[in-house]
Amino acid sequence: MPEISPETDVRFISGVGPKKAALLGALGIATAGDLLRAYPRTYEDRRNRTTIGALKENEPAAFVGKVLSVSSKPAYYAKGKMTPLHVLVGDDTGAVEAVFFNAKYMHRIFTAGRSFVFFGALQRNRGQLQLVHPDFEAADAVDAGHPIVPVYALKSGLAQKDMRRWHEVALPAADQIEEYLPPRVMDGEKLCGVSEALVNIHFPEDKNALSQAKYRLVFEELLILQTGLLRLRIGRESEHGGRAKMAETTASDFESLLPFPFTGAQKRVCGEVFADMASGSPMNRLVQGDVGSGKTAVAAAAVYKAVKSGYQAVLMAPTEILAGQHFGDLSALFDGKLSVSLFTSGMAAAERREALARLSSGETDFAIGTHALIQPDVKFRDLGLVITDEQHRFGVNQRIALARKGAGGGGAGASSPDVLVMTATPIPRSLSFVVYGDLDISVIDEMPPGRRKVVTKAVGAAKRDDVYGFVGREIEKGGQAYVVAPLIEDNEDSEVTAGLRSAESLYDELTARFPGRRVALLHGRMKQAEKDAVMASFADGGTDVLVSTVVIEVGVNVPNATVMVIENAERFGLAQLHQLRGRVGRGGAQSYCVLVTDSDSEDARARAKTMTETDDGFAIAEMDLAMRGPGELFGVRQHGVPALRIADLARHIRIAEKAKAAAKELLADDPMLVKPANRAFGDHVDSLFRDVTDIGL
Ligand code: ADP
Ligand code: MG
Repeated sequence: MPEISPETDVRFISGVGPKKAALLGALGIATAGDLLRAYPRTYEDRRNRTTIGALKENEPAAFVGKVLSVSSKPAYYAKGKMTPLHVLVGDDTGAVEAVFFNAKYMHRIFTAGRSFVFFGALQRNRGQLQLVHPDFEAADAVDAGHPIVPVYALKSGLAQKDMRRWHEVALPAADQIEEYLPPRVMDGEKLCGVSEALVNIHFPEDKNALSQAKYRLVFEELLILQTGLLRLRIGRESEHGGRAKMAETTASDFESLLPFPFTGAQKRVCGEVFADMASGSPMNRLVQGDVGSGKTAVAAAAVYKAVKSGYQAVLMAPTEILAGQHFGDLSALFDGKLSVSLFTSGMAAAERREALARLSSGETDFAIGTHALIQPDVKFRDLGLVITDEQHRFGVNQRIALARKGAGGGGAGASSPDVLVMTATPIPRSLSFVVYGDLDISVIDEMPPGRRKVVTKAVGAAKRDDVYGFVGREIEKGGQAYVVAPLIEDNEDSEVTAGLRSAESLYDELTARFPGRRVALLHGRMKQAEKDAVMASFADGGTDVLVSTVVIEVGVNVPNATVMVIENAERFGLAQLHQLRGRVGRGGAQSYCVLVTDSDSEDARARAKTMTETDDGFAIAEMDLAMRGPGELFGVRQHGVPALRIADLARHIRIAEKAKAAAKELLADDPMLVKPANRAFGDHVDSLFRDVTDIGL
């Protein structure tokens, strides 16, 4: 075989036939280079062997054991399909059973009297502690091998041992890969070279070599990600001509309009927003703040600054009712200072025509509305600031369409307005930089004073009667209640939904239970106008109990609502539960959130515990991330952003921050990455970001 190179097809590696090549292909491995980049899932440290007597449940360990006996009996639970092989293994300290399912051929390997190194964790299986499918290797072979052995992600049909051998064969290809990270990054972070890293990530001599290799590869991945994301942003900025220039004002110029002083966090975030607005390039900032943290006041400060600098501002909210609420609050705040108008889809034609005329003439300083604002006939005279509230509710294109209405009407040469997006969906810091990689982020991490914590309780369905008794007493006291169910209507036919509460059945139940009271129903199958009417009636206090699916509006303020009951709470994710809880506790009265669930799954219990113990949205988001994993949370992959193979955003937050700083520095010095020292890196980033057009932010 000729010398192996990164381009060598895996079929040229001995032992890889067409069948195995197809299996490798399914893992995304077609070449020796791909093998190098298929990093181990974990490692076995064979230097630290233990004994059978010292094995602990659920703790992976390696030990040498001799096969005492082998038996196979058809498993009654597998309907004759599988015949598990039971291998009794012993050493001086005891014996343990290893089980291999559906692996009859292993008879030939495990003959009584042979010794193997086993690696695995004891698991309780039908009451008995066993090693289920432990990794193993003949004891004599191991000592000639490596001290730290890689464990790869496999597909059925591939064996760990074969994978290891193929990786070993591919290793020399690593020497042919030229370093592509810029020298200033290599030096700054004291990174080991790419060839060395690719060898040591698979077969390290010791722990130190492994951790250096890991650091280099994690850093590289995050640096590439950050650089790619930042370049998307630079690309967008240069699409436009100049930018809106804002006057130098401070938060206190505006603060005097407010009926309350800013919290420390609001003041800090205002400072960050104002600095962006006065800087040379357009603001692209995300303000994250838990529900009730006071994001609107910060947005209002930015509006004030933009208008005082001679520009118009626009605020887009996801629903009519939220837009209406913002209009009510902000037109009162700015009364006599600036002219505010509301745009909704329900406006009469003549009214809309007039409002549009005032907007394009510049008579209106500040427009508030729903996506009705992105209609092509909505034109500004000089739009300098675009704010989206609850941005996660908008599609990518809606936000871009609004931002394109920059000064000059959005034509060529128009200047880019400052963009501020607000969200109450707390996104863990570790992830926000991927989801919003090209946005700067501010966090309002402090609540206005005097806010009472929402008392949260988790109860079993047997307590439902008490729960609604409590709801009744809260209503008697003049409060209002939300009741949320996972389904719209009962559906016993489906296995997935059998036994779950539905909004319709709860509505019937509560209407009967509270005869003199006004109970209303809200769900996603209702027409928008109907939903708006129901929500408006609840907001005005015209409804006592609102039974709904999760459609209840984010961001809507009903200070008089004091109870949130969530039925089948196990069906909702942590972040969702926290959002729902945020609907109450917005007034002065003590508020309550009751999670009704009979589930005793570990997951459901962990969520209930988290909810009752913490009200910190960011802590909850981190927990959600840890429980569900990042991919599921945000569908980052949908955007074509390269997958992370080794970096873990939940764990490598600090490295991620360093990588972001390094990427910024690199691009500040060489925006197109064309300097000789950076060119290889630039090409590398380009090749990985080939498929990414715009992640939409
Ligand atoms: P959110 O961040 O969820 O959008 P809002 O902006 O709606 O929160 O604010 C929630 C409530 O807190 C509003 O009634 C608002 O007037 C009030 N608020 C905001 N900032 C302060 C403050 N610094 N002191 C007192 N109350 C405040
Ligand atoms: Mg809000």
